Amino acid sequence: MKQLLRAIPSVNELVAETEIQQYLNFYNREMIVDIVREEQDKLRNAIINHDQDLTKFMVDYQDETKGIKEYLINKIYQMIQSRTEAKFKRVINCTGTVLHTNLGRAPLSSGIMEKLTETVSNYSNLEYDLDQGSRGSRYDHIEDLITTLTGAESAMVVNNNAAAVMLVLKALAQDKEVILSRGELVEIGGSFRIPEVMKQSGAHLVEVGTTNKTHLKDYEQAISEETGLIMKVHTSNYEIIGFTDSVSRSELVEMSHNNGITVVEDLGSGLFLDLTEYGLDNEPTIKEVLDTGVDLVTFSGDKLLGGPQTGIIAGRRELIQLLKQDQLTRALRVDKLSLKALEETLRLYLQPEQAREKIPVLNMLTISQDEIKTRAKLLYDKLSEFITKEYKLEIESNISRVGGGAMPTQELPTWVVTLTCSSTDLHKIWDQLRQQNPPIVTRLQKDKLVFDLRTVSIKEIDIVASKVTKVIIKGE
Ligand SMILES: *Cc1c(COP(=O)(O)O)cnc(C)c1O
Repeated sequence: MKQLLRAIPSVNELVAETEIQQYLNFYNREMIVDIVREEQDKLRNAIINHDQDLTKFMVDYQDETKGIKEYLINKIYQMIQSRTEAKFKRVINCTGTVLHTNLGRAPLSSGIMEKLTETVSNYSNLEYDLDQGSRGSRYDHIEDLITTLTGAESAMVVNNNAAAVMLVLKALAQDKEVILSRGELVEIGGSFRIPEVMKQSGAHLVEVGTTNKTHLKDYEQAISEETGLIMKVHTSNYEIIGFTDSVSRSELVEMSHNNGITVVEDLGSGLFLDLTEYGLDNEPTIKEVLDTGVDLVTFSGDKLLGGPQTGIIAGRRELIQLLKQDQLTRALRVDKLSLKALEETLRLYLQPEQAREKIPVLNMLTISQDEIKTRAKLLYDKLSEFITKEYKLEIESNISRVGGGAMPTQELPTWVVTLTCSSTDLHKIWDQLRQQNPPIVTRLQKDKLVFDLRTVSIKEIDIVASKVTKVIIKGE
C-alpha cells in the first residue's frame, strides 16, 4: 500500500503532462490545480480503503507506478471535461406528460427564437419610448396584446405566477383580510402554498366554508371592515369530487361588488383558446373568467399558455396601476428574454389556428391519435431492426397527462412503444438512457419501459432509436 501511495505523482508533475498542459492554455490554472488535488485525494483514499474497482484496474497494469499515473491523468481529464461542460441542456421527453415541470414545462416554439436572438443580442427599446425619445416602460410592449386576447382593461407581466399572486396580495391587501374558500387552500409543487404566500405578503387569511362545500353566505358573513379582497384559487392539481358545492363566479362577483369588495382569482394555468373540441376538459378561458366580472386574474406564462416562465396579471386598470407602483414590482420584474419570448408567443395567438399548430404545448395536447400512432410505429420499426431476442417490443394504447398542475384528472389517450426484457434489469436501461446525450427520459410502468410518442417529435424518433440501441446492444 505504501508503495502505491508513494507512486502518486506530485501536482507539478501532473500539471506538466501534455494532456493537462493543453487545458492550462484556456482554463483558469487554479481550477485545474484544484481538480488535480481532488483526484489525488480520491485516489489516496481509494488505496487506503482497498477500493475494489481500483485494485481490479491496477492488476491490468504491469507496472503499477506507470499505472497510477495513467489512471490519475485519465481521471483528471474526465473531471475537467465534466466540470467545464454545460449542465443545463436539452432532453427528450418520452414520458407523455406535456407540461413536465421537472423538464422545463413549456418548450418554446422554435419559430420565435430568431426574433428573440435579434432583440436580446442587440440593444432594444426595453425601457425606451421611441415616439418621445424618453424613458419608457417594459410593461407597455405587451399590454395591448394581453388586453386584446383577454378583454382585460389593463395587464402587466412579472417573473412567474407565484410572484404575481404575491404582488397582488401585498399591494392590495397588506394588513387586511383576504377571504378564501377552504376548498381552495392549494399547495402547488415546489412549496408554493397559498396560506404561506398569504402570510409572506402581509395579508391575513380568512378561511370560509368547508373542504367540500362553500356557500355564498359563508363569504358574505366573513366580510368586515378589515376585508381587503375576496380571492379564488384554481384547484390546479386536484379535484374535489362527490358531495361538493362551490359558489359560481358571477354570484360571488355580484355579492362582493355590492359590498364594495374586489375579487381576484389565481387561475394557475390560464388558457386563451377553447380546447373542448379536442376533447380537453372545459377549463374556462381567461376571457370567460374576466367576463364574469372578476376584477383581476393571475396566471402562468409557461403552463397551458405554452410560453416562457412569466406571471401575467390582467384586469381593471386602476388595480394594475397600483401594482405597477408597488415597490415589490421592481424585485419581481420580468427580464428581457422572457418578455420577448412572451410577446412572440402571444402574437401567435392573434391567429388561433397558428397558435394551435406552432405553440408546442397546444400542438402536443391537440395532436391526433393517428399521428401519435404513426410515430409509435416509426419508433417500433426502427427498434425492431436491432433488438435481440430477449427483448420484447409492443405498440400499446396508454394515457398521457397534461401535467404542470393543469387539468389534473384529464386523461389523454395516447400510443406508446413498450419494452420488456427477460434478462437485463429494465431499471438499469432506464438509468442509462438518462446518461445519453441528449438524455432520454422515459417512464417505468410496472415491468415495462414506456415511450409515449405524444411528447416526442418526428425528428426526435431517430435519436431515441439510436440511443436505445446503443444502451441495449453496447450496454453503454
Ligand atoms: C402553477 C400555479 C402557481 C404558480 O405558478 P408559477 O408560474 O409556477 O409560479 C400558482 N397558483 C396556481 C393555482 C398554480 O396552478
